[in-house]
Amino acid sequence: MTAELICVGTELLLGNIVNTNGAYIAQKCADLGLSMYYQSVVGDNMRRLCKCFRAALKRSDVVILCGGLGPTQDDLTKEAVARVLKRELVEDKKSRRHIEKFMKQYLRNTPGKAITQNNWKQALIPEGAIAVENDNGTAPGIIVEEGEKTIILLPGPPGELIPMFESRIYPYLHKKQPEIISSRTLKICGVGESQAETDIQDLIQKQKNPTVATYAKPGEVHIRVTAKAADEETAQQLIEPVAEELRKRFQGSVYTEEEDKTLEMAAVELLRERGLTVTTVESCTGGALSARLVDVPGASEVLKQGFITYSDKAKKKLVHVKKGTLKNHGAVSRKCAKEMAEGGAAAAGADAALSVTGFAGPEGGTEEYPVGTVFIGCCFKGKTKVKECHFNGDRSSVREQAVVNALVLLRKCILEGDETGRLTGASSSSE
Ligand code: ATP
Ligand code: MG
Repeated sequence: MTAELICVGTELLLGNIVNTNGAYIAQKCADLGLSMYYQSVVGDNMRRLCKCFRAALKRSDVVILCGGLGPTQDDLTKEAVARVLKRELVEDKKSRRHIEKFMKQYLRNTPGKAITQNNWKQALIPEGAIAVENDNGTAPGIIVEEGEKTIILLPGPPGELIPMFESRIYPYLHKKQPEIISSRTLKICGVGESQAETDIQDLIQKQKNPTVATYAKPGEVHIRVTAKAADEETAQQLIEPVAEELRKRFQGSVYTEEEDKTLEMAAVELLRERGLTVTTVESCTGGALSARLVDVPGASEVLKQGFITYSDKAKKKLVHVKKGTLKNHGAVSRKCAKEMAEGGAAAAGADAALSVTGFAGPEGGTEEYPVGTVFIGCCFKGKTKVKECHFNGDRSSVREQAVVNALVLLRKCILEGDETGRLTGASSSSE
């Protein structure tokens, strides 16, 4: 079944209010398994609203309109719907009683005032329609069944629309559309989006149910597998073989399949599982990397200490970067990143140390290493890897990408450490 959404209000067109109702309803329709192919925003104008509604009614099974159910002249959504459907507007007795009760309560705060005539307009609904009670306002929602089509009108204020949708509209639509949509996201790090998409082009093109789509995040790619089915269990059965295929293709790059798990959570978990500690030695990220780790509850088990070595002096004093390295190679260099990581690991007595040094901009940089160049080091159990990165974007974006890439490098070094341990028959510390 297809659903279509029309949000009504000139203030939406002018950008005076953000269309949060649109995002909310779209999400709910997706949960319900309704396919949404069109959404429109239209101003408070009878002719254009009728035109928009007519088009929607032609191509979609369910048409949802939100806003414009209030008492004022510019509220004309149901008038437009009634006109297109050629139905009279008639008073709904129950809605009138509700308005009376609601307004009496409201007017107790403003003694001497009476219910204004225009309020009764809200009790009018197209003939043969169903009035949907509004627990948080005066205007009822409206459901109209027109042949095979369903039309739903909702009040604009989110405080009225959301509770009404949850308690009355969702169950109503669920009965019509018993299929559900369920999805699982495989989160991948250390692989670029275009690379990831190329690697699974065949799956993206071939799959109808479930569908496969990629979403890029800084330093990460999320692959969402979405299935339509009669129930959750069946949906999961459809998703699992595709997820398994993705695991096979991306292996250790898949850091989680849990919706709420972040890269830093996965990093802390990996360290905890293996009983490892980490330290950070940061220049251009200025503590952002350790802050990201500390965001994760339980980080104290793995992060004992971090160093912010912003100046050359601090790099020498705290983590023993050599004077000659700074002089001959500069603070933004492969060699400096290596010494920062190794010095940090030794100074903190940690199993792993991450170092970050780079030009975040807007000023600085050299011809060889322009703004955006960041060296990220990871010293893990005595072995050090340094990654040279070249990021685009402004200062905060470069720093953000540096943090994410440091976490990705840490993960890589730990997993490669596992692999080496396995191949040489040595056991890792947690086993
Ligand atoms: P009212 O009885 O308050 O007039 P209504 O059903 O006529 O309600 P509108 O007049 O269209 O609805 O909008 C009332 C208020 O609801 C807006 O001023 C805005 O704050 C909010 N609103 C309307 N549409 C949206 C939307 N699409 N997203 C978020 N908020 C909205
Ligand atoms: Mg209004």
